[in-house]
Amino acid sequence: MAASSRPPATEVDRVWKALEGVTDPEIPVLSVVEMGIIADVAVRDGQVRVRMTPTFAGCPALDVMRESIGHAVRAAGYEDVAVDVVFDPPWTSDRISAVGRQKLKDYGLAPPAQNCGGGRVTESALAGVSCPYCESADTTLESIFGPTLCRAIHYCNACRQSFEQFKPV
Ligand SMILES: [Zn+2]
Repeated sequence: MAASSRPPATEVDRVWKALEGVTDPEIPVLSVVEMGIIADVAVRDGQVRVRMTPTFAGCPALDVMRESIGHAVRAAGYEDVAVDVVFDPPWTSDRISAVGRQKLKDYGLAPPAQNCGGGRVTESALAGVSCPYCESADTTLESIFGPTLCRAIHYCNACRQSFEQFKPV
């Protein structure tokens, strides 16, 4: 099936495994893999090329993330590693894995609504977000600009707490 010039899957798997240990600097409970940031991993003649698709072009964490990815791959035994930032395919919040979404919730961060990837962030996409603490949908959008570009702040009318949402994009 696979062409003989391709590296054994185990090498690629090893790199993915290493990347699972790299956390998102914005949301430290999630790995870059769970966030869906890693677009592609290739290993050729011991040379690793990781393609990552940044969550937000403006996220200042991008350089930190590239650095951490390179470090993790080198720690897995690959000296030669290139981390490319690609915008195609674009990252959307739909790329967050099921495990990742659950972790966001456990972290007290409402996961983004699904299937709004690619579109613009509108107030309606951010309305009626269910509270990560009590699950109530009786919530009000307080601010579309949370502490970082990636988050919105909501207030839960049921349990009277404000909570952050990872903004859908
Ligand atoms: Zn609540």
